[in-house]
Amino acid sequence: MRTRIIATLGPMTSSKEAIFELVQAGANIFRLNFSHGDASFFSEIIPKIREVEKESGQILTIMQDLSGPKIRTADIGRGTLEIAKDEVVYFGTKKAASSSDILPTDLYICLDFPDLVSSLQVGDSLALSDGMLEFSVTQKINDDLVKIRAEGAGIVPPRKGVAFPGKTTPIAAFTIKDAEDLRLGMKLGVDAVAMSYVQTAADIELLREEMRKIGKILPIIAKLERQNAMDNLEAIIMVSDAIMVARGDLGVECDMAMLPALQKRIIKECNAHAKPVIVATQMLLSMVSSSLPTRAEVSDVANAILDGADCVMLSEETAIGQYPAKAVGFMRKIATNAESFRTERKDLYTTLAIADVPISKLLAHTACLLAEKLDCQAIVIHSISGATTRNIAAFHPRQSLYSLSPDSNVRNFMGFSYGVTPITPSSDIQNHQERAEEFIRKNNTFKKGDKVIILAGQSEENSGKILTNLVKIFEK
Ligand code: PGA
Ligand code: MN
Repeated sequence: MRTRIIATLGPMTSSKEAIFELVQAGANIFRLNFSHGDASFFSEIIPKIREVEKESGQILTIMQDLSGPKIRTADIGRGTLEIAKDEVVYFGTKKAASSSDILPTDLYICLDFPDLVSSLQVGDSLALSDGMLEFSVTQKINDDLVKIRAEGAGIVPPRKGVAFPGKTTPIAAFTIKDAEDLRLGMKLGVDAVAMSYVQTAADIELLREEMRKIGKILPIIAKLERQNAMDNLEAIIMVSDAIMVARGDLGVECDMAMLPALQKRIIKECNAHAKPVIVATQMLLSMVSSSLPTRAEVSDVANAILDGADCVMLSEETAIGQYPAKAVGFMRKIATNAESFRTERKDLYTTLAIADVPISKLLAHTACLLAEKLDCQAIVIHSISGATTRNIAAFHPRQSLYSLSPDSNVRNFMGFSYGVTPITPSSDIQNHQERAEEFIRKNNTFKKGDKVIILAGQSEENSGKILTNLVKIFEK
């Protein structure tokens, strides 16, 4: 299987045995969701993952997922509201709730974010309870108070998530809680950090700056879950290390019917920029309580892979579901089948317009073409920064990819790239090409006579340049 599987850990998968089972079933990345769980949960679980990593002999990746500014309604003691279709209710701040504008009998939804309430205009829409109930603003009374009309009937308990589809909200993607969580995560040794509700490239730069202050820069995954992130798609991809199509919140912010096209657009753009891309949320949701997924879910996972996703992610399925390892195992089966269909397609290696393509990408493309033409078993890459490996993975070749990097941070991040098995190279050998050859000679998965493409590169001593400049056809 070339697709990488991300499993979210939670109460159902907090033991070492459960994590081991997930690895055996096919997961190689673990998501720690900092919207749930406390410091003691994360402090205990990370060493367990590292133990499983040692025992399984497989490099595992730990992704910290920061909560971000999930905006919730406030509890002002009015209990759960029952709202009829087309009913008009008040929506405003705590200050307005206690003003003479509001009677105790009025239906009032309180949002304790004055900047957000004051930015609302007539015609704006808002979605409550993860999109279950939609409203539009019908009247602006003052900066602290508006009237909104319900598009459908429903109930509104206090402390429910609120989204303002399509609006750039004046709230930073990095909160005080995120700052504390980041420190904890980095101290505990996470490998990569996902940022929620990213709106602009500047949000990513800000997180990177926070990491710099803490003393180490980790790969950053931008979670695309807002309409305005879509408006800034290319700029966000450029500054991020990887991207997550966060369909849960994205489906609330944008019209849910747009999701499939948005997913394809994001994946295409990520592939073009050689950035790993994750498709997330509700992939096998019914497996929370059922031992089999639905046909629609099976198709969804396969289609994400055919779209070009590097990783597929499980959330509730593995965190709180009844069948965590079964869900991973099913994902693996779906991935394996989708991949073999993918490689049957003839359009994998369309011609590149050479003039527009950077040398690094051309080299990667050449390696893939050679591997295909010579029917190679694998492509072995010695990559210091991981960039060459990502360039190859972005072409989604049929061959297995083994990537040798002396840097453990680089190796752990490689876990996000399609088809890539990260390898620790032998430090006894100085020459990178020889390291790759040595790896092939010693590895039993390669038989005598097998052909393998090697990519490596080594700058002249002291030139300071790191450059992949060698493609070799190697026969064992
Ligand atoms: P979440 O993010 O699970 O942290 O909400 C993923 C999503 O919104 O799809
Ligand atoms: Mn989300």
